Amino acid sequence: MGDLKALQHTLRDLDGQGYGSYNRLKGTYDMGGFRLSVDHTQVDPYAPPSKIRVMLARDQIQLPGHVTQTRPQRIAAADHLARRFHAAVQGRTTSQDQPPRSKPRGSYGNGSHQGETTALKTYAHGQQVLERSTVLITDDRVEVRLEVALPAAGRRIKGRAAEHVLTQQLPQVVAAALDPENRDDDALVAHVQLYLDQLHVAESLKDRGLVAFVGDGSVLPRRAGDSDLPLEQGAIPFTTPGSLDVSFELPSGKTVRGMGIPEGITVIVGGGYHGKSTLLAALSGGVYPHVAGDGREWVITRRDAVAIRAEDGRCVTGVDISPFITGLPTGVDTREFTTTNASGSTSQAANLVEALGAGTSTVLIDEDTSATNFMIRDDRMKRLIPPHREPITPFVERVKPMLEHTGVSTVLVAGGTGAFFDVADQVIVMEAYRPRDVTEQARQIAQDTPWGDESDDVDVNGREVAPFRARTPRILHAPSLNPRSKTKPNRARGRTEIQVGRQNIDLSAVSQLVDAGQTAALARALDELATTTPHNVALERAAFERICSMERDGLDALSAHGGHPGYLAAPRQQELQAAVNRFRGLRLANGSAQRAND
Ligand code: ADP
Ligand code: MG
Repeated sequence: MGDLKALQHTLRDLDGQGYGSYNRLKGTYDMGGFRLSVDHTQVDPYAPPSKIRVMLARDQIQLPGHVTQTRPQRIAAADHLARRFHAAVQGRTTSQDQPPRSKPRGSYGNGSHQGETTALKTYAHGQQVLERSTVLITDDRVEVRLEVALPAAGRRIKGRAAEHVLTQQLPQVVAAALDPENRDDDALVAHVQLYLDQLHVAESLKDRGLVAFVGDGSVLPRRAGDSDLPLEQGAIPFTTPGSLDVSFELPSGKTVRGMGIPEGITVIVGGGYHGKSTLLAALSGGVYPHVAGDGREWVITRRDAVAIRAEDGRCVTGVDISPFITGLPTGVDTREFTTTNASGSTSQAANLVEALGAGTSTVLIDEDTSATNFMIRDDRMKRLIPPHREPITPFVERVKPMLEHTGVSTVLVAGGTGAFFDVADQVIVMEAYRPRDVTEQARQIAQDTPWGDESDDVDVNGREVAPFRARTPRILHAPSLNPRSKTKPNRARGRTEIQVGRQNIDLSAVSQLVDAGQTAALARALDELATTTPHNVALERAAFERICSMERDGLDALSAHGGHPGYLAAPRQQELQAAVNRFRGLRLANGSAQRAND
């Protein structure tokens, strides 16, 4: 191991040399207050920045032990320290949980330090508290992973500038963020406490017979369509309708009250622009805990809930959509539906059936992103289009059998139709952003004006509809995840894309993938699925096992490199399956969906 002097010496020596010589920096240095590890140096000034780590001994920085013992505590504490570190790189040395305003979620922060700009970079965390690889807390050390754009003049090394960044700015940042006297440990403890309280509510939902909770006073609307930050001006806080009022005693000793959405079928109605989609989007985001001040910190949804939408154009491989769709004009067997170009309705059916396979207990559906013909069909259309010409049994006729046969609850936004009144267990109306329970009125209306016959296994046309039976497992043909064009590990591009060889997986419709770090982790998980999945394992099982080992071994184990693992965040098994299912080269080892690969 070198020391500060050795680092200074090397940098002065490197001054003016060709940029590639920066690789002489690789190694570990004792910097006095901390250890610095230079794990990877960029090959040229325009390449992705160099990767470095800062390591501090636990007994040296004295983190409060009572909030850094268990895995959940460490996830929250690491999140807090990473936000502090990011703020310090930005030159904001006060303790603040909020990311800078203009930064989109999950982006890089190019630092400015105490007035001067710095080449140091850290990952800007979004509003969610996720397990991440940015900061690692172990029994004996704290490790911060960051990046540095090593300074250049043309293609020559600016050794003096690099020396300033690594031996002046970096120690200042470390001190500002992590020194016990600069740290605000009350904020750290509060951050961990909130996370544990949120976890408690999430874990209690099932026992309480609820699928979601929205705390009184929550602020659901966001600042803009492209921002995940809370609306500041004119936001109307959430108020709980009396009939749905519930409360939770929290581990911290506090109590939180709000609206509990019971299991079953819940329909959200209301006029246009009255806040229906905003509520549903908050519920969909509620599968992850949010930071204090987000406005949604008490919006908590079952961790396995999946938002379902139409996604025409996606590929589908061997999915049994027969509970919704049979007798397509092409004659294809919808028990193993396979297409390179799904329609609105077939894509929504596939998304739903895949979510059931991924073990969801709750599906969330918004009319705004649904295929109308998947959701409903009215009497006039039934008279015009004869039964044998309509392959779709609309969701309104299947939502109750789905609940009865699989136990899966639905929360649905439907402002344009009363078709769901017959099957709804709860109807909530949004009126100028305030919810009200109108279940009784909706029932009365349903009785007064019947919509049509309901029957579990016979549709409106009198046809037999496939029941929600146990699906035949889809056996993953793992080598198909390793197409011939793949010569390098998969690469994530931002939040919405993963490159596998020459193909791209488009994840832009997977709304519960919220952070580019999750996508990076998914890219790695797909690499591993391709090589480590044994024969004869169902796709669902393989994805589930992969996420379990990620939780057991930590995110670092996913990385292809030792040292700095890159910026990874934990995805759910639902999103891992979503990625596999959207890969156009996917093949199954069973069924007729064994189509040719690239
Ligand atoms: P709907 O789905 O009922 O048509 P949206 O949920 O799309 O309505 O909301 C319409 C607009 O109202 C959006 O711009 C949204 O940000 C805003 N909004 C939603 N909820 C609130 C609220 N509680 N307070 C203030 N504005 C809100
Ligand atoms: Mg809407």
